[in-house]
Amino acid sequence: MITIDGSFGEGGGQILRTSLALSLITGKPFSIHSIRAGRKKPGLMRQHLTAVNAAVEIGRAAIEGNRIGSQAFTFEPKSIEAGNFHFAIGSAGSCTLVFQTILPALLIADKPSEIILEGGTHNPFAPPFDFLEKAFLSIINRMGPRINAALEKPGFYPAGGGRFRVSINPAGLNRIDLLERGNIINKTARAAVANLPVNIANRELKVIREKLEWDKKRLSAVEVENSQGPGNILTVEIESENVTEVFTGFGEKGVSAEKVANRTVRSVQEYLAVNVPVGRYLADQLLIPLALAGGGKFQTLSPTKHTITNAEIIKKFINVEFAINEHDRNRWEIEIWNG
Ligand code: AMP
Repeated sequence: MITIDGSFGEGGGQILRTSLALSLITGKPFSIHSIRAGRKKPGLMRQHLTAVNAAVEIGRAAIEGNRIGSQAFTFEPKSIEAGNFHFAIGSAGSCTLVFQTILPALLIADKPSEIILEGGTHNPFAPPFDFLEKAFLSIINRMGPRINAALEKPGFYPAGGGRFRVSINPAGLNRIDLLERGNIINKTARAAVANLPVNIANRELKVIREKLEWDKKRLSAVEVENSQGPGNILTVEIESENVTEVFTGFGEKGVSAEKVANRTVRSVQEYLAVNVPVGRYLADQLLIPLALAGGGKFQTLSPTKHTITNAEIIKKFINVEFAINEHDRNRWEIEIWNG
């Protein structure tokens, strides 16, 4: 039985999601303690519990300790069961993170799957749906499988109530190398508001226009009609020849629209200036697919604690090696190969 210390490194939910994903794939049981010890409210929150229970269902697993607030559990999968699933978090917890927990197993299953996920679709500290679809899944699709994701209803924090649907046609994963971004084909910024004044979106776009010097035709303000609660999201998409990256600003009570947009502008400017294909979030999320493909490499910005922690957890389940090195000024290269 593999033992995972949930307080290791970054000490967040990613440790338990990566462990669940790779335990399903390898069939290796694990026990985890000190779950999310690095967070203000440690233990399993609704989103994590939904991810655990989804993995139990897909892996026909034996489980002990799957309760809200639990700081330890053991997980013993039997076999991967693809098919039709419906997972509802019951709060604004992130659906995309629940989805990423079970995706690796369903990518290599022996038949297709259809999944409906309900909860938050655009959460701070999690991949927003647009990032999942345009940045993350478009790379997975290039590696072999065919995945189609459709947002049916957005779910913003704190009301939630979002919903998306995914179909997965599994296939073996081919390695991928992403060393150059290539020319930029398109760049757009979309400011969306739900049950809030559209002026917030217009102020965010004004910052984008002034700071990034983008033409008006690249900018759109959208009033979302079918949201359960209020929300504001600024999404900047940079589509290049070899990759699409998505940067998100999350509107918050007490934080001005200008501040939200300025934070987003800074991440976009850094990405464009360093001229790498892969941004910081995509970097930590690509490690599992590349490890399962038996290798690959990409250039990215300086690695986050999530990236470094994820590499260490992956090595506990599968025999792969990682090299994470600064290639030249601010450009980092991450290489993965079979150990
Ligand atoms: P954790 O904090 O351990 O629950 O992990 C959070 C995950 O969400 C990591 O894989 C991050 O890369 C991802 N993430 C957080 N914020 C964003 C964002 N704005 N865009 C894309 N992914 C994100």
